[in-house]
Amino acid sequence: MKKIIILSLILCFIFPFSFSSSIAKTEKSSLKSSVSKTSRIKIKDPKLITIRKINSVDADLYKKKLNEDKVKYKQIKSVLNQDQFNLYKVTEKLLRANNLQYQNWRVGIKNKTEDVNAYTTAANLIIIHSALYDSIYNDETALAFVVSHEISHNILNHGQKSYEIQYKIKDLESQAEDMRRREEAIYALGDIAVDLQISKLCKKLRLMEYQADKEALTLMARAGFDMKEASNALNFLDRLPEINSIYDTHPSTAKRISAVNNELNILNINALKAQGQNNLYNSKVINVKKSSDKKTFILEAQKEFKHFSYVAEPQDLKLLEKAYFQYREKDFDSAQANFEQAYSINKTNYIPALYLSYIDEYNYYKLHDRKLIKKSYHWVKRAKKIKPNDKNVLKQYNDVKTVIKSKKK
Ligand SMILES: [Zn+2]
Repeated sequence: MKKIIILSLILCFIFPFSFSSSIAKTEKSSLKSSVSKTSRIKIKDPKLITIRKINSVDADLYKKKLNEDKVKYKQIKSVLNQDQFNLYKVTEKLLRANNLQYQNWRVGIKNKTEDVNAYTTAANLIIIHSALYDSIYNDETALAFVVSHEISHNILNHGQKSYEIQYKIKDLESQAEDMRRREEAIYALGDIAVDLQISKLCKKLRLMEYQADKEALTLMARAGFDMKEASNALNFLDRLPEINSIYDTHPSTAKRISAVNNELNILNINALKAQGQNNLYNSKVINVKKSSDKKTFILEAQKEFKHFSYVAEPQDLKLLEKAYFQYREKDFDSAQANFEQAYSINKTNYIPALYLSYIDEYNYYKLHDRKLIKKSYHWVKRAKKIKPNDKNVLKQYNDVKTVIKSKKK
């Protein structure tokens, strides 16, 4: 039997969605007022982090290119039906803006099922069930989220990983069944152990869902979708059933929503959009071909892209860039949270620890709270452990140590 690895979207959001950054805003404004009092204190910045430059395509040239593309889209429209064309347009934009046309992508809407779902297989097939498609066909952002979530499973190689995990789960389940049949004395104990292993594997599958959601937002930002709409677009998900158990392969609704919002807060949307515009500008419209089953269609690979592959940006680097941007904007509370998160993901990079030391030192001069200079010392010690001979680290270490020593006297 052909292996079909299903990584479904099972969009199991159930709580009403609300996107709010009001807390961050309040913190920011209170911070600004205190900053004005302390503007004499110098913020340290050896410029160790780069914020990506935004190299936009010339607006007129880009407009001209879009008009040229429109002619080609008209031809393609005549080959597909309206729903297929809708799906093609969204998918084509996502693929081209992210340089993903190095392979064929097969896309389709599956009828005759009431399952509100979408899934992808290892063979680059993306299927949206008609029950899901019909509920979002006129919401381009929602449709883009569904498609990019499935594309993400593919480009993050979740197909193979998921297959291996699902195979292990099946194996464990049959072991458990075997034990039950033989009514072994150790059955109860063995069953608990098997359950634990299965729940750990399910957790891995849930992690893939978070990763696919996050990467989907990056793909969408490059393709120029309105990211303010992106979180609202997830509202449609709350109509879908939610399954809550440790064996569920999908994360809980609330956690998924909050992960999406966190990601939206750290992405450099403008830089991604500019990258995407460059990619769209420098590529041709993707050709379409009806696939042999007549139900799906193929977005054909382009030979100029055959050596491309997709590299997802590491989460700690995204956080670092955002944190540094906030640091320069003197939004220290947000910067601190993001530097801390970057550090917790990658403890081999000294930079977030060094900047965390700068923030606590700055806050110490502002608030004269001894705890803060101790915190600053704690962070620079961590940076020193990672990079003992770095000149910026040594300078900060000595600076903070001097303050601590002088206060002891
Ligand atoms: Zn999924």
